[in-house]
Amino acid sequence: MSAAPSSGLPSPQTNPEILYTGVFINNEWHNSVSGKTFPVYNPSTGEAIANIQAAEKEDVNKAVKAAQNAFQLGSTWRTMNASSRGNLLNRLADLMERDRVYLASLETLNNGKPYSAAYAADLELSIKCLRYYAGWADKVQGKTIPVDGSFFAFTRHEPVGVCGQIIPWNFPLLMQAWKLGPALATGNTVVMKPAEQTPLTALYVAELIKEAGFPPGVVNIVPGFGPTAGAAIASHKGVDKVAFTGSTEIGHLVMTAAAQSNLKRVTLELGGKSPNIIFKDCDLDHAVETAHFGLFFNQGQCCCAGSRIFVEDSIYDEFVERSVERAKKRNVGNPFDLNVEQGPQVDEDQFKKILALIDTGKREGAKLLTGGQRYGDRGYFIQPTVFADVKDDMTIAREEIFGPVQQILKFSSMEEIVERANKTIYGLAAAVFTKDLDKAMYLSQGLRAGTVWINCYDVLEAQTPFGGFKMSGIGRELGEYGLQAYTEVKSVIVKMPQKNS
Ligand code: ADP
Repeated sequence: MSAAPSSGLPSPQTNPEILYTGVFINNEWHNSVSGKTFPVYNPSTGEAIANIQAAEKEDVNKAVKAAQNAFQLGSTWRTMNASSRGNLLNRLADLMERDRVYLASLETLNNGKPYSAAYAADLELSIKCLRYYAGWADKVQGKTIPVDGSFFAFTRHEPVGVCGQIIPWNFPLLMQAWKLGPALATGNTVVMKPAEQTPLTALYVAELIKEAGFPPGVVNIVPGFGPTAGAAIASHKGVDKVAFTGSTEIGHLVMTAAAQSNLKRVTLELGGKSPNIIFKDCDLDHAVETAHFGLFFNQGQCCCAGSRIFVEDSIYDEFVERSVERAKKRNVGNPFDLNVEQGPQVDEDQFKKILALIDTGKREGAKLLTGGQRYGDRGYFIQPTVFADVKDDMTIAREEIFGPVQQILKFSSMEEIVERANKTIYGLAAAVFTKDLDKAMYLSQGLRAGTVWINCYDVLEAQTPFGGFKMSGIGRELGEYGLQAYTEVKSVIVKMPQKNS
């Protein structure tokens, strides 16, 4: 592998071969029961690159059956030592490491994200996540509890059972790792549906799961659409838990389906409209660059994007000017080019939705200072866009845009900012830039969000929990907290003998 001189990263495979397009059940590849397929695209060109087997309800039934069998008491998986489950997860991480260039290249081809980010962020964090949870596999412990009477009581943290996992397109590999890591470390079995836009890397990882030596049926992957395959998972009576990452709108549907079928456990990681609060006493260079990163990273397609940037009035004009300069310098283009910072949006729907929201911003009176248009004439590229003079009640300050569009608002007092920052249905993340520890700590308490970053943004390591307050979700992923959603607590109470007989 030749190293690219500009960045030190190994060169990408610009035309990675697409090897797996089927439904993965019991460690085997299947055609869909209906015989239907669907195309996936390269968002840089808009061209179809593969036809994928379209899993629907019948395929989900088969996958759930396989996962139930693998979960049976006495199965290879259930009798496996916990440390061996950890070894399997580490082996999977090793295989992803081995195929890192290929996987990063495939992610870039199918999702459009720059290869440099896919390699250095998505693959790096996915591999680390699997290793982190590999370490937990034999460390999930219950308690012994003193109870009244002559009894011995202890708790077991048992796997929940068959876990349905429905993942989005913005970080296909990383979301797969966030879901598989805790589920497998704790001994569950899985039926996973990748997003219809981006199934390719998830399917390749399925083959690595088999190669790593996971028993058949432990992980099953059903590519397909939300209303068919996704809804079949959410409403399946044989699925014990569903973990969903995606829009708040679909989160409602998933939770409703879970409630109406079998009250399966539900965790949701949904949308956001995260405030990023910049005080006049911040390190301005750092704040401008980090706010830029916190919004534009991944083409703006992050649920935790810092999409409401509140800047203290005395530095507002300077912050805006520097943010515009930075956005104008953003390198947009072929995501396989190692110097490119921004690739295309994932698909035509997202592309059109973002351009429509930019129009709404202009119509409602926000000041468009750069960008606002399609970039180039092919694929789904959008110019880095900055709006100033954004007001709290404008659509672009309330709705998730999920694109490269920065909104900058002004504030003038500490009293006002907590209320304005919290005035949203969401509560996924927030950030504060200041050198004053008191201000930072006050806001870290006052902001109603699952993560508060201070003088940083998008620090998403496997060790710290992530998830939302309010309509940004239910439950936490990552860290030790992320194990809770994948275990049931069982109390075992044993009568103790009163005397030596
Ligand atoms: P986005 O709007 O960003 O595409 P979605 O919430 O629509 O996000 O999609 C996230 C995931 O949820 C995808 O895997 C998608 O196929 C799936 N999905 C969409 N609709 C449903 C549904 N009705 N039930 C279950 N899953 C769904």
